[in-house]
Amino acid sequence: MRIAVLALQGAFIEHEKMLASLGAECFEIRALSDLNRPFDGLVLPGGESTVQGRLLKDLGLFEPLKAKIEAGLPVLATCAGMILLSEKLSGDQTVWFGTLPCTVKRNAYGRQLASFHSEDEFKGLGRVPMTFIRAPAVQSVKPECQVLAVTRGIISAVRCENQLALAFHPELDGDPRVHRYFLGMVQKAQNGALKMAS
Ligand code: GLN
Repeated sequence: MRIAVLALQGAFIEHEKMLASLGAECFEIRALSDLNRPFDGLVLPGGESTVQGRLLKDLGLFEPLKAKIEAGLPVLATCAGMILLSEKLSGDQTVWFGTLPCTVKRNAYGRQLASFHSEDEFKGLGRVPMTFIRAPAVQSVKPECQVLAVTRGIISAVRCENQLALAFHPELDGDPRVHRYFLGMVQKAQNGALKMAS
């Protein structure tokens, strides 16, 4: 399995380490030419969504990546990545990829709780450690989204088909279960594609 990790800004190296430890091959996307390499899944890391979104557009990466996500490429999006995927940002007209049918509020936990750690139930995985850093909150989801985790009464993980979006940073806690779950999604998508081709 080859996973492309968006490496324009933010916490991308930690994802690569985690995925590599699970046997996936990773490479970084920094320029348009990087998209010439084949890949089976994409990671949109945490960081600063406005900076990442602008860089994606300036580098010409935005439209080709959006087309791939719309075509069903499995995506793991953390924090800023979740903001980039969301269909609507609360109190903000900005829409980036807009492929994930939910409404998200940026920096939703306020100053006091800008960063915190939690351990909550993740559907199918049990309790997993969760690190939140100036995290967004999922305020509402459309029926096609599955809620996978709730933290302090607020949705913190959602899945819609091949898009897995998390308000927290699973790459920072040394627990590989969320990444393994994502690689399972990638494997399933690959199997589906093989079936269609045969
Ligand atoms: N607050 C950041 C944003 O709005 C996201 C923070 C993060 O990715 N840890 O983009």
